[in-house]
Amino acid sequence: MSAITVSADGTLVVPDVVTIPCITGDGIGVEITPVMKAVVDAALDGTGRRIEWLEAPAGEASFEASGEWLPEATLEACRTYHVSIKGPLTTPVGGGIRSLNVALRQALDLYACVRPVRWFEGVASPVREPWKVDMVIFRENTEDVYAGIEWAAGSEEAAKLYRFLHDELGVTQVRFPDSSAFGIKPISREGSRRLVRAACRYAVEHDRPSVTLVHKGNIMKHTEGGFRAWGYELAAEEFPDLTVKDSIADAFLQATLRRPAEHSVIATPNLNGDYISDSLAAQVGGIGIAPGANINYETGHAAFEATHGTAPKYVGQNRANPSSLLMSAVMMLEYLGWQDSADAITRAMAACYREGVATPDLAPSPDVAVSTQGFGEAIIARLGDPR
Ligand code: NAD
Repeated sequence: MSAITVSADGTLVVPDVVTIPCITGDGIGVEITPVMKAVVDAALDGTGRRIEWLEAPAGEASFEASGEWLPEATLEACRTYHVSIKGPLTTPVGGGIRSLNVALRQALDLYACVRPVRWFEGVASPVREPWKVDMVIFRENTEDVYAGIEWAAGSEEAAKLYRFLHDELGVTQVRFPDSSAFGIKPISREGSRRLVRAACRYAVEHDRPSVTLVHKGNIMKHTEGGFRAWGYELAAEEFPDLTVKDSIADAFLQATLRRPAEHSVIATPNLNGDYISDSLAAQVGGIGIAPGANINYETGHAAFEATHGTAPKYVGQNRANPSSLLMSAVMMLEYLGWQDSADAITRAMAACYREGVATPDLAPSPDVAVSTQGFGEAIIARLGDPR
């Protein structure tokens, strides 16, 4: 077993044979994850580098086997080996853990959710010029209303909080105090700065023209407005030559439909990022194709993941699209510094879509669609293609 280490200056030291914990996932995860592994193995073949996949249990299968949704051993493996990859997981309904994805992000403080959004020629899109959509979203992953600090309407805690707000802080704007639920939205200078730093660094390293800070600071002046102010502050201090601009979230969503080429790298708080990720993914073909990563750039911990769920209605049919997980694996290879293998997979996948080779969700017509496994084989067959 060969683990990645992190040197004193924060750079990853990646051995040629590296152990990567892999959570297969539930539902269609059982079908798409083996395809992802086969394509990655084929892309690495002959490069002198290799991944030793370490099966890490989580989700339904793990719960049935051991009674645990997210075993401590799996968390420990993700911690020890730094970089991991996961298929989609069922969110347990009615108790247990709130969300396995959130639990993993919190346990490893994976503060940046990174979502590149680009179009592949041949993929059907609801917009006229999908090739103009080429953005990388940096969504803050640990703060905002997603921190999960909220109380139900009618609870003792809600009443207590209201009394405090009213009596101690002079809050009079709660319209219906007796039937109000309350949520708290923490956004910090520290959390905003580390996220914006990651976005700016990405822009510089990937020769991207600009970073857009997307916020609702016109309404939430201290939280979202704070994010904007701290973002500009950080950029001025550490990236003085980079073009950094900002946009109010609603106007931004309109702009990405009308003038998508004006935006490149996006840095945004958690909830905005949630909406923006799915909205932009829809413009380039939907969630079956959009990849994602959750990263802590200081500790080096990173979990790469399919961004869609377990698609229960397609389970066992060998028709799920493995592209989201596969493109997440491409991000992982880039993160490891294995750019040539990452590029080979991207080129091969682009060739498939250009030639109309796709699973039923994105195929030009149902009768020419290939299976999950067939799509993987088609990519492997094109790995040596020059473009
Ligand atoms: P989903 O993403 O599983 O499916 C929604 C629809 O999207 C599907 O019916 C299908 O039409 C399409 N789709 C999704 N992935 C696809 C793929 N790879 N290929 C082709 N089509 C695809 O969302 P859901 O139905 O709301 O959730 C099902 C389960 O997944 C729930 O338990 C939910 O909690 C979980 N979930 C997990 C994650 C995750 O692990 N990151 C994300 C979202 C939902």
